[in-house]
Amino acid sequence: MPNYHIWTIGCQMNKADSEQISSYLEQIGYRPCPKPEEAEIIVLNSCVVRQSAEDRVNNKINALKSLKRGKILALTGCIVDSRVDGLRDRFPHVDLFFAPQAFSELSQFLEDRGLAPKGLDSGLITHRPKPSAFVNIIQGCNNFCSYCIVPYRRGRERSRPMAEVVREVEVLVSSGVTEVTLLGQNVDSFGHDLQAKPSLADLLTELNRINGLARIRFLTSHPKDMNSHLIERMARLEKVCEHLSLPIQAGDNDILQAMRRGYTVEQYVGLIQRIRQSIPHIALSTDVIVGFPGESEGQFRKTYDLLGDLRFDTVHVACYSPRQGTIAARKLNDDVSAAEKVRRREMVEGLQECIATEINGKLLGQIVEVLVEGREKGKWCGRTRTDKLVFFVDEAVHTGQFVNVKIEKTSPWSLQGIIAGQSK
Ligand code: SF4
Repeated sequence: MPNYHIWTIGCQMNKADSEQISSYLEQIGYRPCPKPEEAEIIVLNSCVVRQSAEDRVNNKINALKSLKRGKILALTGCIVDSRVDGLRDRFPHVDLFFAPQAFSELSQFLEDRGLAPKGLDSGLITHRPKPSAFVNIIQGCNNFCSYCIVPYRRGRERSRPMAEVVREVEVLVSSGVTEVTLLGQNVDSFGHDLQAKPSLADLLTELNRINGLARIRFLTSHPKDMNSHLIERMARLEKVCEHLSLPIQAGDNDILQAMRRGYTVEQYVGLIQRIRQSIPHIALSTDVIVGFPGESEGQFRKTYDLLGDLRFDTVHVACYSPRQGTIAARKLNDDVSAAEKVRRREMVEGLQECIATEINGKLLGQIVEVLVEGREKGKWCGRTRTDKLVFFVDEAVHTGQFVNVKIEKTSPWSLQGIIAGQSK
């Protein structure tokens, strides 16, 4: 059997796209392999959201030049936009460039070379080795936050028809999936561009009815688009997990305005309060950018203090890096030094480590329900409804089972425990 190798960096949307590509390649008879040198087809799924990610992609493509002989090399992800000619000039050893979600270009390329049967639906996943799956529901973004390259690379928002999403989830459930994570750069915008204008709340309600599906998650939400109707529906629908990703990005109103985020600190705090009132045990995660152009020490301190007040379960913190073509890169001076950005990032990381230690420490001795996702370093691992990573040892457990685990050890990043019985 021929092999394929897929390399993915970036957000969950890229991971979801890679799963779909893997599914297609396996349907046409290819087998996954960990080493590119042993593969006949190599797919690189790129991210350019930060300069460091783009550098990794460039290095990866160049590193494959020497072992390319006889192999098909395909490049997808956010590096591929309408300017493919420029990419062709830079990377002549790449055989195929296809935009995110343009799976048909890959299948057409392989069909034209007699490597795939004609007419297979490369957009529909029929095989999943895992109990949880990502499902894209909306592509692109209309927001144009001043630092973000996504709207330029992934284009404007395009929702998938609701019936198509529901059908895909039904197919996944029939193949053994019990947990889905709905993905979009801005999931709360789902449906506004469809004729019947369904909302994310409507989609959650439809999915909640599917027999065999146990858990529903969605990410990423936007604070300016998250409304009371959605919060109320989250609280009411039993399959929707108590877990939400809601990026704040900064704790100072002038910086938020320069970022073009569309909300104030006060509005964000009010939103968090409403969410916690409606869903008391919800786990919240957020994203923060430090060292945005013009961010003073005092403005950074406001972000730092706010994170201390709001106490998120998880904080993803990144140093600002200008992305060519964005509003911030064109109009603002990247005036916070690299060393200072790193200092601010490390301060946030240190604070969050303390907060997560305390939050997770409260789970010591408690019994949590875990969906077993697989094995890692000799232990079973899985996640709670609140997205906590849990490890345990047991002989009789299998991937895909729901088990109750009594927590015996906690850390800021994960929990460890022993089996306290099967849950479902
Ligand atoms: S909401 Fe802002 S940060 Fe998120 S993808 Fe859209 S433009 Fe980028």
